[in-house]
Amino acid sequence: MCKNFIKNWTLDEAKEFFASLGEKPYRARQLFNWLYEINVDSFDEMTNFSKELRARLREEFSLSALSVEERAISRDGTEKYLFRTHDDHFIESVLIKRDGSDEGRLTICISSQVGCAMGCRFCSTARIGFKRNLETAEILDQICQVRKISGIKNDNIVFMGMGEPFLNYDNVMRAAAIMNYSFGFHISVRRITISTCGLLEGIERYIDEKQPYNLAISLNDTIPARRARIMPVEKKNSIEQIAHLLQKKFPSSRNRVTLEYVMRADNIAQEDAIRVKKLFRHGNVKINLIKLNAGAHGFEPPCEEDITLFQKELEIMNVPITRRKSFGEDIDAACGQLSGRRYNPHIHISHKQSPAHSDK
Ligand code: SF4
Repeated sequence: MCKNFIKNWTLDEAKEFFASLGEKPYRARQLFNWLYEINVDSFDEMTNFSKELRARLREEFSLSALSVEERAISRDGTEKYLFRTHDDHFIESVLIKRDGSDEGRLTICISSQVGCAMGCRFCSTARIGFKRNLETAEILDQICQVRKISGIKNDNIVFMGMGEPFLNYDNVMRAAAIMNYSFGFHISVRRITISTCGLLEGIERYIDEKQPYNLAISLNDTIPARRARIMPVEKKNSIEQIAHLLQKKFPSSRNRVTLEYVMRADNIAQEDAIRVKKLFRHGNVKINLIKLNAGAHGFEPPCEEDITLFQKELEIMNVPITRRKSFGEDIDAACGQLSGRRYNPHIHISHKQSPAHSDK
């Protein structure tokens, strides 16, 4: 029988539990320290807890929410992890090393759902369809396990893996808050990015609640009919409505919203840049340009010459523009390639192990 996951707890919930046992509230902080800072494999390692307390925790809770099925390492250093959930679903996470080493910026790209209902045409996750939301513990355990196996302490988190984070809003926000605890991962709110395909209601709630994390929106196109063809969300929540919402509600004092623009051969004409400028001219935004992976789902990647012209045209907007590299293409770990399936035989599997964290 599946026990409750202890990593679903917020600090207040942990305090409540310890209070019910007659334990002091500081036990909750100690617990979070063991779970996320020390990243223990078993309750028995929690040596400042009494034997009885450890036995009680072991009896009632699971320490791990996921088991590691496979790990693949790309030529550029990117690592992709395939996890199995307790009910036999598969999800993936990616460890990205911006400069290919363990020294530079280290980011873990995590999943928020099993599959996804949004149906973006360029995305492998979309082909699975939606299965279920991940629990908070399943979101956090991706970080615990990637850190444990890679031996790397990342300083960035992006919710850009499988799933639409705003369709699992409560669990995503709860997990992000726990990531920020100073007695755990202690990842700065400025280094946690939540990326949406453009759900108006979720973006509005996020702004109204004054959530402190970075917000990214997949833009990818500005012509409604063309955007709707690759991102069906456009039919219900148009990019025009989103631009209007950002202009109306997103404070200029906040970190800019990142607009992710995957460049294809057919979406980087001068008129495309002009439309982006017009739509977001009053928005507190920055733009990430990503070149489409070669041969991705039947779309043509653009040529470098056209990219340069498109970027030049956008620069007139006077907002930060970054050209982002795609990582881990050779192991299907790049944008739009996560599918939660086992790898093809040609892919190098560097590591395979049974559940990394057993609390037995
Ligand atoms: S790109 Fe994101 S929102 Fe779109 S289908 Fe894939 S996982 Fe879902």
